[in-house]
Amino acid sequence: MNRKALYPGTFDPVTYGHLDIMERASRIYDCVFIGVAHSKEKKPLFSVKERVSMLKNATRHLKNVEIEDFKGLVINHAKRKKTCVIIRGLRMISDFEFEFQMALTNRKLSEDIETIFMMTNDSYSYLSSKLIKEAVSLGADVKSFVPASVAKKLKIKLSK
Ligand code: ADP
Repeated sequence: MNRKALYPGTFDPVTYGHLDIMERASRIYDCVFIGVAHSKEKKPLFSVKERVSMLKNATRHLKNVEIEDFKGLVINHAKRKKTCVIIRGLRMISDFEFEFQMALTNRKLSEDIETIFMMTNDSYSYLSSKLIKEAVSLGADVKSFVPASVAKKLKIKLSK
C-alpha cells in the first residue's frame, strides 16, 4: 500500500514547529507532499519561490517528502496529488476552532478527503511564523525557532 498525505500551509517562513509535523508525518506515510499555498490574501513576507526553497533546504534529510507550490483549493491539490489525507498541525486550543471549521468545509466539498490533525512536540507548540517575524523585526535572535539559513533570510528581509 502506498500511503500518501498532503500537508498544506503558507510556511512564511518554515519553523521548527512545521518541521516537527513534517518529520512525524514522514514516519507514518510513504510519501508526504508539502503544499505551499500562494496565500496572496495573507501578504506573505517571502515569495512562494523563496518559501519553497527554504522548505527544500530544511527537509533535505526527509527522503519521502516533496515540496511544491499550489494555487486554489487545498482539496483540489490533494486530488491532483492523488491523496485523500490532509494533514494539519495543532498547537493550542486556539487553533482548534478555525481548523475544525476548515476540516468540515473541506469534507463538505469532498466527502472522501480526510483531515488528520497532528500535535507538535510541546517545546514547539507556541511557535508561529507571525510571532517569529515580529520578534526578528524587534531585533530578536530566532535561531532556536527556525533553521539558521531561515533566520539569516529573515534578518535580511526585516532589516531593510
Ligand atoms: P496556514 O496559512 O495554512 O495557516 P501556516 O504555515 O501558518 O499556514 O501553518 C500550516 C499548518 O501548520 C497549520 O495547520 C498550522 O496550524 C500548523 N502549524 C503552524 N505552526 C505550528 C506549530 N508550531 N506546531 C504545530 N503546528 C503548527
